[in-house]
Amino acid sequence: MTRFIFITGGVVSSLGKGLASAALGALLQARGFKVRLRKLDPYLNVDPGTMSPTQHGEVYVTDDGAETDLDLGHYERFTGVPSRQSDNVTTGRIYSTVIARERHGDYLGATVQVIPHVTDAIKEFLAADPGGADFLLCEIGGTVGDIEGLPFLEAIRQFGNELGSERAMYIHLTLLPYIPTAGELKTKPTQHSVKELLSVGIQPDALLCRADRPIPSEERRKIAQFCNVRPEAVIQALDVDSIYQVPIAYHAEGMDRMVLRYFGLDASQEPDLSRWTDIMERIRKPEGEVRIAVVGKYTALLDSYKSLSEALTHGGIANNVRVNLDWISSEIFEGDGTLEKLEDVHGILVPGGFGERGAEGKVAAARFAREKGVPYFGICFGMQMAVIEVARHLCGIAGAGSTEFGQVKDPVVGLMTEWMRGNERELRTGEDNLGGTMRLGAYECKLKSGSRVRGIYGTEVIHERHRHRYEVNINYRKRLEDVGLMVCGLSPDEQLPEIVELNDHPWFVGVQFHPELKSKPFDPHPLFSSFIEAAVAQSRLV
Ligand code: GLN
Repeated sequence: MTRFIFITGGVVSSLGKGLASAALGALLQARGFKVRLRKLDPYLNVDPGTMSPTQHGEVYVTDDGAETDLDLGHYERFTGVPSRQSDNVTTGRIYSTVIARERHGDYLGATVQVIPHVTDAIKEFLAADPGGADFLLCEIGGTVGDIEGLPFLEAIRQFGNELGSERAMYIHLTLLPYIPTAGELKTKPTQHSVKELLSVGIQPDALLCRADRPIPSEERRKIAQFCNVRPEAVIQALDVDSIYQVPIAYHAEGMDRMVLRYFGLDASQEPDLSRWTDIMERIRKPEGEVRIAVVGKYTALLDSYKSLSEALTHGGIANNVRVNLDWISSEIFEGDGTLEKLEDVHGILVPGGFGERGAEGKVAAARFAREKGVPYFGICFGMQMAVIEVARHLCGIAGAGSTEFGQVKDPVVGLMTEWMRGNERELRTGEDNLGGTMRLGAYECKLKSGSRVRGIYGTEVIHERHRHRYEVNINYRKRLEDVGLMVCGLSPDEQLPEIVELNDHPWFVGVQFHPELKSKPFDPHPLFSSFIEAAVAQSRLV
């Protein structure tokens, strides 16, 4: 039997609903339950794939090729359960489905309306493909009171009513602001937020209250009384120094016990939180530290690189070191820009990216890393820029470039127009819609024996997640390999270079996929562990 927990947010946005959901998922898992997590996003885009990362944050890609909200990354990092296409839906997708059905004649005779047709489509999504989960946690994006969120709230109200309280629970996340002149944490915004929820027919069963200091018992009692929840269901969520402390902190506040009691389940056993205490031990007592420069384009909003910064932290956990990140906009390395900001770093990472702006700065950063022997990790766009750099400066192909930026004399990186997905051929014309047409999701890659990456992975065949339209041109392979840039990971048909590495360099690896999407704090991705290990070695030299 699957039980549903609906998580809404109020008072202000950015309270960390995604993290709260992920941490609760991890806690229930630590008690032996099978969990899945799901996100409903109220915006009109069909998926976030066409949104700017500086608006929306990172686009998280699943194995099955869905472009999803970054909260799904938190879900996977905290539970290890791979997310799927069926775990993220937007208003845009719901409406496209409903309108397609209407055109098909599925509602013949009916006036198609938000209630029941749109809300039915949302409920179908909620119930679909639970994957044998004991608990399905559904996070509703946005803040209670947003106009666009109303159909989702109505749908979870109906759905919870149909399931009954023994199978449905509503948790509302709020903020208790501290007002210095009054010297108090204020409960009124929480009361108003709950009123807002009540106005759409939802009585929360528990309140998770963010606060920057402990909530006095009198305030808690007040919240419980005014918001009509049991006192033990008012859980304080205090600020913590690491996101990986959150499951431990929630447990200390009785969150998991409260949820189990709500559903009438036995809560007498303690959960096994050793995974989280081990991680926190390593984070709090590092044996050293390294400095990594991340040379990118979307550095104005660090959520654009959420999985990446987490994966680097995981690499630090694996090596017992603290990883300090310097976020650098690559444009400063263009024109007459000096590379002095890279002088003292122990590793340089150029992440994924799109478009010409800042590309030359990334090529310059790759060149600096190659010439100075600084560990270099190029991810997707960062691999492509490293290949262009080597083509230009080691192979002597002055006109080497990517067709992503228009016509180039030597298309060392070019548009992919066909590739294999298993036994299926995927075709693109270059004129396709932009949404959902990249090479997306997990693809197999074969590693060359004797290569550095073969040793790092410890296996010959890997599956990694992709999101790209351009690809290193296999026709340049020989010329690149002649100067020491080895193509050591290939698609099974050997047409798509997936990994390059430089001979005679401490650590210079470019990958066409996004390994950061699969890294977890309790299972750091081997490429990130190895890159940070190389940075540790570098830190001993400088
Ligand atoms: N813009 C490049 C491409 O489409 C790289 C994409 C990326 O870094 N995710 O191939």
